[in-house]
Amino acid sequence: MSTTDVPTGGPLTGASGASGSGGFAGSGGGWVGPDGRVARTDRPVWWSNWAGNQRCRVPVLRPTTEAELCRLVARAAAQGRAVKAVGAGHSFTDIALTDGVLVDLSAYGRVLSVDRDACRVTVQAGIRLRDLSAELWVHGLALENLGDIDVQSVAGATATATHGTGLGFRNLSSAIVGLRVVDGHGEVLECSADREPAVFAAARAGLGALGVLSTVTLRVVPAFHLHAVEEPRRVDEVLEDFDDLVRRHDHFEFFWVPGTGWALTKANRRNHEPPAPRPRWDEFVQDRFGPNLAFGLVNRIGTLRPSLLPRLGRLLPSAGRVEYNDRSYRVFASPRDVRFVEMEYSVPLEATVEAVQRVRRIVGDLGHPVSFPVEVRAVRGDDITLSTASGRDSGYVAVHMYRDMPHEPYFRRVEAALEDLGGRPHWGKLHHRTAADLAPAYAGWGDFLAVRERMDPDRTFRNAYLTRVLGP
Ligand SMILES: Cc1cc2nc3c(=O)[nH]c(=O)nc-3n(C[C@H](O)[C@H](O)[C@H](O)COP(=O)(O)OP(=O)(O)OC[C@H]3O[C@@H](n4cnc5c(N)ncnc54)[C@H](O)[C@@H]3O)c2cc1C
Repeated sequence: MSTTDVPTGGPLTGASGASGSGGFAGSGGGWVGPDGRVARTDRPVWWSNWAGNQRCRVPVLRPTTEAELCRLVARAAAQGRAVKAVGAGHSFTDIALTDGVLVDLSAYGRVLSVDRDACRVTVQAGIRLRDLSAELWVHGLALENLGDIDVQSVAGATATATHGTGLGFRNLSSAIVGLRVVDGHGEVLECSADREPAVFAAARAGLGALGVLSTVTLRVVPAFHLHAVEEPRRVDEVLEDFDDLVRRHDHFEFFWVPGTGWALTKANRRNHEPPAPRPRWDEFVQDRFGPNLAFGLVNRIGTLRPSLLPRLGRLLPSAGRVEYNDRSYRVFASPRDVRFVEMEYSVPLEATVEAVQRVRRIVGDLGHPVSFPVEVRAVRGDDITLSTASGRDSGYVAVHMYRDMPHEPYFRRVEAALEDLGGRPHWGKLHHRTAADLAPAYAGWGDFLAVRERMDPDRTFRNAYLTRVLGP
């Protein structure tokens, strides 16, 4: 993309990236600068998600101010073109794809204000969780809970109700106490629990369907350490004690290794004791070599010789007990080098053990080996309209497959088994559900659709995924 095409002068020139910033001039046209000149800068480029299983070829715009963002949405809407905001591209579904224009907020990701006493931070919505955590730490603050990676953007992670584990803690969307959202006509609406409560309840996990989040105010907590104990245990024992384990530990999760009777467990305790991090070489070996390179190797060998997988899988739990104490965000999240695809279902907490047993039976009957572990977590219920934990404490069961191996027969069977338990699919992870069968899973389904109608009556934020899961 030639930058010589970007219009000079005026408020739009601060934008960087593939396509400059401005508005569409119609089919085959370029971007309209503030001076009305058409600049041919919206040539499509390939965009792909992290897993590499979703791609689109569209103009990608990177606004740097809220005013640019509003102008861009308003102009695209006037010209009937679809707009899709994108975060870090870490969803496995086609939720972030578009045939219109992709709005990448990576150049709109600063911390705007920190109120240490009130434990509040206001950020531009494109900020990455990792950058936010590092900046909060300097102020003696932290995000209350995180998932197992932290490279997502705040807006992208909350749009799909991204969660970690811990029955005393809710998902990331629940940390939002205020937001500014650009609606389908390019107008900003500010909302919180007291102001526009219906929009607020829906837009904290809005699937990108209600507008583009511009700024977000988050509830944070005083900085803390996590003491982690990671150890293999017999999966039958873990399932028997599951209820106690998730109640006794601040953050408990386990990974059952298919083809074995073993689970790798991880229990984190919140504390303010002195840090005792793993030596850097150990961290490298455990985080990068262990789960990533070893899984990579297992999967690559497995792709070539599937019959070897069960034997390779049995080697994985031989990892010993690991214990360390470190900054919360360093313990919650770890790198993921091996590319895989994933599906995750939330079920009512009390159905979690049954859900895992069903998955174990399915894996046993599949007729081909599964090399990636099944991850199990628990999260406190919340009051967000389409959060997967809406209205109920939830267990989460996630199945994975190496990117180059067939996943669909496995995922479909697991999906059918968990749907039957009141399961709700993670919005950012692969699933095959549609509006018709999702509607009964959420008490607030109609409320969400009403907010969508109000915020985006012309469906500026439409894409194939939203049409499938919400209806046209
Ligand atoms: C390796 C890996 C590990 C993961 N671990 C976890 C985990 O532990 N827990 C968990 O729950 N999930 C996990 N996920 C899923 C991931 O957290 C979600 O899919 C999340 O939505 C990705 O965030 P993102 O910034 O990449 O958003 P994207 O995937 O880029 O976008 C997701 C949605 O957010 C919308 N969006 C983005 N920006 C805005 C905006 N400014 N305004 C409105 N909408 C916007 C997009 O339109 C889209 O609808 C994992 C994914 C991967 C690849």
